Amino acid sequence: MNYQRFFEEAVDQVQAEKRYRVFADLERIVGRFPRAIWRSSGEAREITVWCSNDYLGMGQHPDVITAMQQAAGNMGSGAGGTRNISGTNHPLVELEQELADLHGKEAALVFTSGFVSNEASISTIARLLPDCLILSDELNHASMIEGVRRSGADKKVFRHNDLQHLERLLAVAPRERAKLIVFESVYSMDGDVAPIAEIAELARRYNAMTYIDEVHAVGMYGARGGGITDREGLADEIDVIEGTLAKAFGTLGGYIAGPRSVIDAVRSYAPGFIFTTALPPAIAAAATASIRHLKASHTERDQHQRQAQHTKERLAAAGLPVMSSDTHIVPVLVGDPELCKRASDHLLEKHGLYIQPINYPTVPRGTERLRITPTPFHSDALIGELAAALRETWEALGIPFARDQRPAQQRTDRIIPLVVPAAGG
Ligand SMILES: *Cc1c(COP(=O)(O)O)cnc(C)c1O
Repeated sequence: MNYQRFFEEAVDQVQAEKRYRVFADLERIVGRFPRAIWRSSGEAREITVWCSNDYLGMGQHPDVITAMQQAAGNMGSGAGGTRNISGTNHPLVELEQELADLHGKEAALVFTSGFVSNEASISTIARLLPDCLILSDELNHASMIEGVRRSGADKKVFRHNDLQHLERLLAVAPRERAKLIVFESVYSMDGDVAPIAEIAELARRYNAMTYIDEVHAVGMYGARGGGITDREGLADEIDVIEGTLAKAFGTLGGYIAGPRSVIDAVRSYAPGFIFTTALPPAIAAAATASIRHLKASHTERDQHQRQAQHTKERLAAAGLPVMSSDTHIVPVLVGDPELCKRASDHLLEKHGLYIQPINYPTVPRGTERLRITPTPFHSDALIGELAAALRETWEALGIPFARDQRPAQQRTDRIIPLVVPAAGG
């Protein structure tokens, strides 16, 4: 077997499907968010980033940077081992208390990423429950799908945010059978929001446990930044709330918050928690500083919503096919993978604007898009510049404007979580 050839062919297949990804070489500039230096073919150029998940610019907040520097200065760079071996560094103890408080839960557990927190927690919870049936929203993130798969439990996928479909699936299962409903609050590619109260009500009626991914909402919604469950007063109605420290909180790591019994069980059973080195104290301290700041300050959240709304209005007024979104996420439909990539390249090269193309399998084929994430730091002037650059790009590449658009394809496609190339001959 020619091993090297196998891997080359695997990549060739991705290329043939126009899904091959090239990462932009970027260096963010502290104090000048969302500006960054882009390096390409030996040149360095300053550009504006329009697709960061550092939604509130907290990755550059002075309190967060200071906390990180001080903890590193006092405690060093790494955690020194898994928590079983090395104990828990004190900033991580504080961080977990902060997170439990943020969501009004008894306890919280931190993982090295949001991905790991979903994969480890969902798989462990569903594996511990005898004969568990998982009910999973069809647009759930790849990390949740991995958790579902790893659990080995039976699963039923319900149509996206479809309460009737979910209820039908719940109703046919015996009442005493263990059931776990897994879903997200804000879906990150369309920016729509789950009917959380109604799902919690179904869970009560059919005796199911609930697990929500609030990754795209924590820090950004609710009086204290506890997410959509905070905004709607529903944190008590959901058993486990999962979030990330890497998006609006601007650092790294993931977590779950919930009843002490569940948290302790995941802590005791999940290999993805047990057998990996803990977050470094500097990152834990920075995350805590960020969460504390956003618990007390509304400025970032208010300005974030304002700039997102303003972006939607300016782009729509420019005739661009802005897809409807209930949140801070502003998707603009391209509808073709190659054009989507070319639009992204054109925006970067000609206009100095970085917006990552979003193609299959992240979104269904035919709904390829640019996913724009305005932050409090994207000024009205930058938004005006974006609208003009997008118009020019749409015209230059012949991408349909809003009026020429056919209705967006119904989302009946399943999202395929992992890109596993077929074994080529
Ligand atoms: C990004 C993301 C994750 C993973 O979080 P990380 O901290 O980046 O690993 C989990 N769920 C959803 C919905 C996400 O978009």
